[in-house]
Amino acid sequence: EEDRALLEADGPAAGDLDAGESRPVVAVVGRPNVGKSTLVNRILGRREAVVEDVPGVTRDRVAYEAEWSGRRFTLVDTGGWEVDATGIHLRVAEQAEVAVELADAVMFVVDATVGATDTDEAVVKLLRRSGKPVVLIANKVDDQRTEADAAMLWSFGLGQPYPVSALHGRGSGDALDAILDVLPERSSVSGAYAQGGPRRVALLGRPNVGKSSLLNKLAGEERVVVDNVAGTTRDPVDEMIEIAGTTWRFVDTAGIRRRVHLTRGADFYASLRTQTALEKAEVAVVLIDAEDRIAEQDIRVVQQVIDSGRALVLAFNKWDLLDEERRYYLEREIEKELVQVPWAPRVNISAHTGRHVERLVPALETALDSWDQRIPTGRLNSFFGEIVAAHPHPVRGGKQPRILFATQASTRPPRFVLFASGFIEAGYRRFLERRLREEFGFEGSPIELSVRVRE
Ligand code: GDP
Ligand code: GDP
Repeated sequence: EEDRALLEADGPAAGDLDAGESRPVVAVVGRPNVGKSTLVNRILGRREAVVEDVPGVTRDRVAYEAEWSGRRFTLVDTGGWEVDATGIHLRVAEQAEVAVELADAVMFVVDATVGATDTDEAVVKLLRRSGKPVVLIANKVDDQRTEADAAMLWSFGLGQPYPVSALHGRGSGDALDAILDVLPERSSVSGAYAQGGPRRVALLGRPNVGKSSLLNKLAGEERVVVDNVAGTTRDPVDEMIEIAGTTWRFVDTAGIRRRVHLTRGADFYASLRTQTALEKAEVAVVLIDAEDRIAEQDIRVVQQVIDSGRALVLAFNKWDLLDEERRYYLEREIEKELVQVPWAPRVNISAHTGRHVERLVPALETALDSWDQRIPTGRLNSFFGEIVAAHPHPVRGGKQPRILFATQASTRPPRFVLFASGFIEAGYRRFLERRLREEFGFEGSPIELSVRVRE
């Protein structure tokens, strides 16, 4: 019984870009402490499960490559799910909801020894609304005696509960077979956990800024290939639009085209939709209504893009409605409200008339080039060498921290690590960041600069 559940662990999908792009995604969700991590470890075939007994231990979504019966899929572990959560629990619950959005199928884990809780019931509602196929795992069924507990979970109306002991491996093979039965061959959410394929764009912005108008304008004039998802009745999730010979993948267009009315706070869902789209995207176009005052909500979306580390283009829409006076005040507002993104390319468009919509693509390309940019280590160090020689870190308490070495740790977005001989003040770090941009540009991409102190 135990061996049935043992699966082959698999490294990251290196090289295999096309397969990675289309590999289906399974999210593991459920309340904290029901055994999600244990199950994930079991599926990955890791003997020593890294789990803790503390309920509600926070962890972010983590994606792994898994395989069962010769089929490969991405397995996403989530921290847990508490409905009506606040604070840190809310964050974790959000992550679980995002994970469901980004999955092709869901393993919903319930603790059979506890039975159905109110939270479980609420999660069931959310899962139903998602329209994703769900396999119900009645976990902690360690032996025959507790199988009756599992049967109680028919009451969810999610079909057969699969009795599983994630701890001992009992029954997990049957549950995995059930997941494979409902998992599409090709992912409908591809891109979220993979690289490759057309570049992925998210159109973001508060309601009524013109997202769907812009989408129609782009799709109407150019060639659209709707990425149809076999076996689902949902709207296409993404749309491929060919503009001037290049295909772009606009992510989550279903959420733009179909206005979803949801029971919970509209703000919560707007921000969740934004986050989900950002997860899938490489670059975001944030639309701002140029006719209206720049709002708190606009700034929040821009901040979400920065926090997600995605490339950014600002599109001021409804330009056809602007008079000279409004244009004047808009410039003042931009200076004041969007100070955190002086680096974002900006286009002034009208989704209605089509004015300057063609400028969007060059802006996207610029932003993505910056996002992908890698500065050779030699060049980086000679640059920092010059800066530091001309403007050394101020002396504090008789000491002067020196910059020993700099390297670019990653691209997408560019992340830099400085090794220093002592604490670097925030002001000096900002100065270095500013000079980095002045030298290398990075137009359209956030950058990060972190400092490690070497004793
Ligand atoms: P998560 O918060 O949902 O990821 O739950 P964990 O995987 O961290 O498990 C919570 C606790 O339940 C740990 O103490 C696990 O050892 C225990 N547990 C998980 N699966 C089983 C199971 O199948 N049987 C029993 N008896 N305990 C389990
Ligand atoms: P969404 O909620 O962001 O998808 O916004 P919509 O595309 O539905 O647009 C909201 C309203 O603004 C609609 O009445 C559109 O016709 C209008 N609209 C969108 N873009 C423009 C534009 O560039 N100029 C003008 N005048 N109206 C626009």
